[in-house]
Amino acid sequence: MTHDASLLGLRGLDRPSIEALLDRADHWLPRLEQGGPPPASRAVVGLMFLEDSTRTRCSFETAVHRLGHAPVVLSGRGSSASKGESLRDTAANLAAMGMQALVVRCGQSGGPRIVRDATGLPVVNAGDGRHEHPTQSLLDLSTLRDRLGSLEDRRILIVGDILNSRVARSNIHGLTAMGAHILLAGPASLVPWRLADLSPAVTVAHDLDAVIDTADAVMMLRIQRERSAGRAVADDYRHAFGLTRARADRLAPEVPILHPGPVNRGVELDDEVLDDPARSVVLEQVRRGVAVRMAVLEHALAAAGGDN
Ligand code: ASP
Repeated sequence: MTHDASLLGLRGLDRPSIEALLDRADHWLPRLEQGGPPPASRAVVGLMFLEDSTRTRCSFETAVHRLGHAPVVLSGRGSSASKGESLRDTAANLAAMGMQALVVRCGQSGGPRIVRDATGLPVVNAGDGRHEHPTQSLLDLSTLRDRLGSLEDRRILIVGDILNSRVARSNIHGLTAMGAHILLAGPASLVPWRLADLSPAVTVAHDLDAVIDTADAVMMLRIQRERSAGRAVADDYRHAFGLTRARADRLAPEVPILHPGPVNRGVELDDEVLDDPARSVVLEQVRRGVAVRMAVLEHALAAAGGDN
C-alpha cells in the first residue's frame, strides 16, 4: 500500500501501513459531516459495482463526495457488462474518459488486479468474489481498535461461512498483521480445518458453545446464499451457530459484536442481539467505513500523483 497506490487486498500489508490508514480514518471520523477542505483539483473516481452492494457502494460514494471529488457510478445491471463486455474492456473505457482512480466490486476473484494492470490507474478492491474485501476489514479493525485498544494478543472469534467469505479472508490477514489471535467457528463444511493454514494466528473450531466464552470480540458472518454455500448448511444453523440471546448473554458486557451486513436476521443474529446498542457495533462499523474509505482513496489519489 505504501509503495503502491492501489489497495487490492490486505495480504502482505504490514502493521505500520494498516495503522497509518486507521489513524488517518480517525482523523476523518469527527469531520465526516463537513468533509475536508476543497481539493486543489477535483478528481473523478469511477465506482465499478458489477456485483450487488448497499453499504460498500454508498459508503465509497459518500467518501468521494466528502473528499471533494466526483464519483461516477457504474453498476452491473444497466451497463454493457450485462451485454457481455469484459471487465478489462469496461475499465479501459472508463480510464479513456480520464478517471483518476477506480473502485472495483465484482464477482470475479482477482478482478481488481486485472483492472489495475489493464488501466495503470490506482484501484481499490471493494470486494472480489471469495478473495478479499480489504476496506471492510479496515473498518472492522478500526471498530475493534476503538473498542479494545491494541489488538495485540486479543482473541477475535469469527463465526459462519468462512469458506466463501472475502471479509473473513481480509480479516485473517489484517488481524494477523495487528497481532491478534483469530478463532474461526462454524460447520465443518464452511470452516474446513485447512483454513488454519492461512496464518499461524488462526485456530479452527466446530463447536461454538465450547469457545464463545474465550472471545474478546465476536464477528458474525452472513451465510453466502448467492455463492451456493447456503445449501450446505442445515436448517438448524441458528441453533448451532447463531448468536442467540442466550449465547450473547454468555459474553462479557464489553465484548463487541460485529457483522459486515447484510444480516439474515434470526439466522446469524437474533433481533435483540443485533438491535442491542450496548453490544452491537454494526452501525458503528458502517460509520467508520466512510472514514476508512476516505483514507484509502486519499492515499490512492496522492500516491498516483493526484491532488486531494
Ligand atoms: N457485504 C459483505 C461483502 O460484500 C459481506 C457479505 O455480503 O456477506 O462481502
